[in-house]
Amino acid sequence: MTAGAVALGIALTSVVIGIGAAAPAVAATTCSGDRVTVQQLASGCAVASPTVVLPDGRQFVVPAAGTTVSAMPVAATGADDAGDVSITNTGRTGVAVRVDDVWSGSAAAVQQERTAVRARTAVPDRAGVVSRGAATTAATKAATSCTNTSYTRLGFRWTAPVQWSYNPNNQKVTGPSAIGAGADAWTGAVTACGRTINSTADQKHLGTLKQSMGVTATGGCGTANASSVVGWGSLPSGTLGVTCVWSRSGTAVETDQRYSTSVNWSAAATCSGDRFDLRGVATHEWGHAYGLGHTAKNSGLVMRPSATTCDTAQRGLGLGDLMGIDAIY
Ligand SMILES: [Zn+2]
Repeated sequence: MTAGAVALGIALTSVVIGIGAAAPAVAATTCSGDRVTVQQLASGCAVASPTVVLPDGRQFVVPAAGTTVSAMPVAATGADDAGDVSITNTGRTGVAVRVDDVWSGSAAAVQQERTAVRARTAVPDRAGVVSRGAATTAATKAATSCTNTSYTRLGFRWTAPVQWSYNPNNQKVTGPSAIGAGADAWTGAVTACGRTINSTADQKHLGTLKQSMGVTATGGCGTANASSVVGWGSLPSGTLGVTCVWSRSGTAVETDQRYSTSVNWSAAATCSGDRFDLRGVATHEWGHAYGLGHTAKNSGLVMRPSATTCDTAQRGLGLGDLMGIDAIY
């Protein structure tokens, strides 16, 4: 989309200039300790390589200056929705923390990042309407997947196919084909609810790699390593999966996904019993990986924040999901 590309180019330029100017300078104060709270970040202190601990217990390794790390969970229905998290290290102005639409951390960093996210997500869509996400309130009453047009954007996108590897350690079911099918739901000519769009969101499965994911057992994100890995492991109770994405000025550079080893999964064509449908949940996680945030709980869309067992309907996009991916790609 031309308008989006232009807007992104402007944002990249301005942020790169900001970082370039800041890089040589050493910030006045450094956050003390190797575990930093959101309250400490409010002082605007600079981070060396500490871990930020959110009030809900999720821990994040602060990314390099100029980088945002985002964690998007999906919960089992009935469990608490932990909320989407983005942590941006602006370098000079400190660290901004966002949990859904609530910001905290360094006030100067929050102001800078909030403005940047607003600029990146307020791109006119194909109908010429400006979408700022979170337009869910009015739509929640008509909660079926083909009448709900809501979507939210996380503020990043990929400029090349996501190249990912699969780590089979501790796998509950054999994952790659179901996880790949979940990704494919967002790619190419996608038809949903009688409408067809053409999406350039894409991925390539590189094969098996026994490398750890940058998703931690707290449901937060660890260190980026320039390699996107999908696998299995512990997650907080009620959380089915978490996707972490690292981005720089709105361009995604790495994504890791972890699926919970505490629940039962199905990777079969038809799901039965007290199991979660891996393909359906993976469709949701890839929606996050490509840049979509959550919609309302009762939206009926793939991007609602929780899933029920054997929810195979989640394998296919709803109208809002389709419009969201179309707006980004
Ligand atoms: Zn989610």
